Amino acid sequence: MQKLGQSWNSAGIALFARVALRDQPLALPHLSVPDIRWVNWGALRAAGFQGCVFDKDNTLTEPYSLELHPHVKASLEECRRTFDGRLVLYSNSAGLQQFDPDGTEAAALEAALGIPVLRHREKKPAGGSEDMEQHFGCKAEQLVMVGDRYLTDVVFGNRNGMLTVRPAPFTSKGEPKAVLLARAIEESFVGRWQRSGVQPPLHPLAASAAAAAAFLRHPDDWP
Ligand SMILES: [Mg+2]
Repeated sequence: MQKLGQSWNSAGIALFARVALRDQPLALPHLSVPDIRWVNWGALRAAGFQGCVFDKDNTLTEPYSLELHPHVKASLEECRRTFDGRLVLYSNSAGLQQFDPDGTEAAALEAALGIPVLRHREKKPAGGSEDMEQHFGCKAEQLVMVGDRYLTDVVFGNRNGMLTVRPAPFTSKGEPKAVLLARAIEESFVGRWQRSGVQPPLHPLAASAAAAAAFLRHPDDWP
């Protein structure tokens, strides 16, 4: 039952409808990658970014798993070193007041993954940037949002002026039906907008396609 509650995001659906009608760029990420190994953390840091905010399910772990996916372990460690530990997890379950009021899940996740879990009140894509800005001590524009869902992670990051990175999900295994449906709908819309030339919102630290491309790291350069 809790899984159903977590996957039903009415504020998110309303916001996505608004995005679809009026503000399509908000759903488009600045960078699309197969997984986070393709992100050049050093280049992001050098460009002036101060920290990274991660989604959990299908970004760092398989859905509902407490173990980092083998593809992301080394990259996440490098991200941690590059940003001097300034990374957090921003989940729509752990650390969310509604589902995790006493922070038990957040604490378990912190112990398992070694990343602080931001405590917050609103589900992505709703919610402002105050919690993050307070945690990192910088403006949201200087933060990178990394997450697999257009509807939640990308819209949330773009609404708050962050640089948005969208890794492809690891698996559909274990995802609730509502999430699979939402994913299929948002992927179809976003694909259509991308093909018709819609661009993500302009980000001051990634003002051109070439600047954004410099944040990518190709397999030849992986450690
Ligand atoms: Mg996710």
